[in-house]
Amino acid sequence: MDNWQTTFKQTIAAAIERSENIAAIEVGRGALARAGQLCRRHFDGNAVLVFADEAAFAAAGDVAVSALKSAGLTVDSHILPASPRPKPTVALGEDFAGRLERGVVPMALGSGVMNDLVKYAAFRRGVRYFCIATAASMDGYCSGGAPLADKGFKITIPCRPPKAILADLEVIAAAPPRMTACGYGDLAGKVAAGADWLVADALGIEPLDDIAWPLVQDNLRQLLERPEALAGGDIEATARLFAGLNICGLAMEFHGSSRPASGADHQIAHMWEMEELAHRGEPVAHGACVAIGTITVLALYDWLIGQDLTKLDIGTCVDRAPDWDMAVAQIRHHIPEQRIAERAIGEMAEKYIDGEALRSRLCDIKDAWPALRDRLTTSLMRAPDMAHHLKMAGSVYDPSHIGIGPERLKATVYSSRFIRRRYTILDLLAQTGLLDTAVRATVSKEVLDPARRPTMRGN
Ligand SMILES: [Zn+2]
Repeated sequence: MDNWQTTFKQTIAAAIERSENIAAIEVGRGALARAGQLCRRHFDGNAVLVFADEAAFAAAGDVAVSALKSAGLTVDSHILPASPRPKPTVALGEDFAGRLERGVVPMALGSGVMNDLVKYAAFRRGVRYFCIATAASMDGYCSGGAPLADKGFKITIPCRPPKAILADLEVIAAAPPRMTACGYGDLAGKVAAGADWLVADALGIEPLDDIAWPLVQDNLRQLLERPEALAGGDIEATARLFAGLNICGLAMEFHGSSRPASGADHQIAHMWEMEELAHRGEPVAHGACVAIGTITVLALYDWLIGQDLTKLDIGTCVDRAPDWDMAVAQIRHHIPEQRIAERAIGEMAEKYIDGEALRSRLCDIKDAWPALRDRLTTSLMRAPDMAHHLKMAGSVYDPSHIGIGPERLKATVYSSRFIRRRYTILDLLAQTGLLDTAVRATVSKEVLDPARRPTMRGN
């Protein structure tokens, strides 16, 4: 048995048993030929409607369709142009939903955007769908949420994951290297997301759980090893990445939210996605945004770990904290687009505290800090190490690679805090009055420079 199969068996197979939504994840060389059998086993209906873009269809469509036909299924397809790339919007999801007829199995053939659109469409029609993954480019294949833009505001809409997922390793290893690199970026984000969850746990805001936390974090270091093999299209490495991404998706299902896989790193990414960040004429992919969000957040953690929060002046922090009107004014200042600002005000209202509640939070931070700092120190990867790993995986690792300069990066660090109610390092820094100092100290070329000597903390 190859190593990836062992990883797969020990983690994913056990998790599928627990899943209430996913009946099968079939991964292997030449697995596409089994698409028809898999579809027959898990779905009723004699017809399949394949949703794909031209590029994904060129990579896997013919083999998938003939496998489905060999199983006696009627196959129709809705193919979108590959360029410009289809946009993950509620409007397009609704269009897909309108094409689904009774008794027809919806099938997403592609990666992130196609999967999210079909996930949404199937959910709207109350049917299950089949997913054929064509790239290890993000972690959303088996997550229950579809991150889509609704009139310009990116939200994760609760849906249902596919009932069955199939990934042919020869197809996903042959995907464009930038897509695999994006998957690595999305997986790398779990280091930062894990740190944010540790913070929320230590402050009694959102406790770690016994299932999703170990499922992601106990496997993460191993799954991020050997990034250089990915860049070469190594099947074993691609399989491990695909397994890692699906572990995250399953963890989100078990936890009931994206907390196990998404923190400030993703908030930064979502902000750019809402702003429709494009570089060299192409929208910047989710995993690339997350990669830069991740090293930014890890740089903030590197700085934070060097501080002594037991010496916090709580009275000053409480006195200087913005009241709600000021907080709203800050949101409007940092998010000029009104529609996004209005949604952000709603999110911030869920985590905004002042007065005695803030005093009590700051006491918790002071008390928790020595143990929390130790835990962060031993579990986190330093920003320059992560940048080095991303570079080896063929990923972007410097903000300039996606057209982001220091000023825009700073602006996004501020604005991204407001778009989710989730408590992250950005909230900790803001509540302790350290956000401005931390941003000044970290969001610079020097701190994010991967040429700085890579050193691994804690091991
Ligand atoms: Zn992601």
